[in-house]
Amino acid sequence: MRDLLSMTIEEMKQFAGQLGEKPFRGKQIYAWLNRGVCDFDEMTDLSLSLRQKLENGLRNGDFTIGGCRVADVQKDDTDGTRKFLFELGQDDGDRDFVEGVFMKYRYGNTLCVSSQIGCRMGCRFCASALGGFVRNLNAGEMLGQLLAAEKYTGEEINHIVVMGMGEPFDNYENVSKFLRLLHDEAGKNMSYRNMTVSTSGIVPMIDRFAEDFPQVNLAISLHRLTDEGRSAIMPINRKYPLDELLAAARRYTDKTHRRITFEYTLIRGENDSDEDVELIRKRLGGMLCHVNLIPLNKVEETGFDGSTRSRAEEIAAALESAGIPATVRRELGGEIDGACGQLRRISSCPNTSFSL
Ligand code: SAH
Repeated sequence: MRDLLSMTIEEMKQFAGQLGEKPFRGKQIYAWLNRGVCDFDEMTDLSLSLRQKLENGLRNGDFTIGGCRVADVQKDDTDGTRKFLFELGQDDGDRDFVEGVFMKYRYGNTLCVSSQIGCRMGCRFCASALGGFVRNLNAGEMLGQLLAAEKYTGEEINHIVVMGMGEPFDNYENVSKFLRLLHDEAGKNMSYRNMTVSTSGIVPMIDRFAEDFPQVNLAISLHRLTDEGRSAIMPINRKYPLDELLAAARRYTDKTHRRITFEYTLIRGENDSDEDVELIRKRLGGMLCHVNLIPLNKVEETGFDGSTRSRAEEIAAALESAGIPATVRRELGGEIDGACGQLRRISSCPNTSFSL
């Protein structure tokens, strides 16, 4: 069924035309929806007859307003991070949930958005892979996470990172539509520079992304710099090995002149030795990049442990002195399993004691 929240402004103008209305009415509906107003009665600049037409269409199932709603929230009081459980508003009768994380940074509020329910990539250390793959989210369901989080917190979200559950480049069409919706000046009007997409390394999509979104930040999850070692923890490496991945990263920086972020999750005893650091230095030296070191967050089922913070700082310093910009990611949401790699599929609302 047609989902109004997934429509671009052009599609919304056509939709207005199909209702026998002028195209600018579509723009008005678009603006309301993108402000988080989903009740036609509140769209006060529309005529009463149009509002009724819309209400009837919705009731008859001619279209839907998908998106999502907040089903549960956990709050980390130490840093203001909130982990949201969003219930998706699809119309197939299933109750589906994804998680998203709201974080406060010096430069503004950021939402970590999920792009799929579950994930196909199967990275050994990540909770998102544990429940398997269920389905892609549509653009409205990604936008809906942001609108629901804004409504709940009463705060404006001006940055997004597509680093929640799922592999965004395994759902390229919907993710790119989502970025365009966010950017549209009649909607959220978010600058492309405030958006970041993170991939486990789907090479053809990196080239496409450089072409389509040269201003959006790109992050690549590396985690290891030998093919054997990387394939052991990230199965995608068998399809797109390191040489190909790093060549794509170079094409990206050549084309966009933008610094690429390499995420490197530090797993104790697996990828944090001096030899590993030397490999990073050898393979990334001279690239227009930044290495983001993330001490692994514990996921019980995986059996891996994170490196200590002090080891992470040591590695960052070693890389810096070799001329490779590196930082240790500030950990937010660790208290509530809302940190990187801890988002997992939940198939029913846990109905915790937390009330909204
Ligand atoms: N599928 C995309 C988006 C996920 S982003 C990607 O792989 O890039 C989430 C980031 O957290 C990725 O870099 C991922 O590898 C990393 N990550 C996964 N599990 C983690 C864990 N347990 N601790 C720390 N980081 C983890």
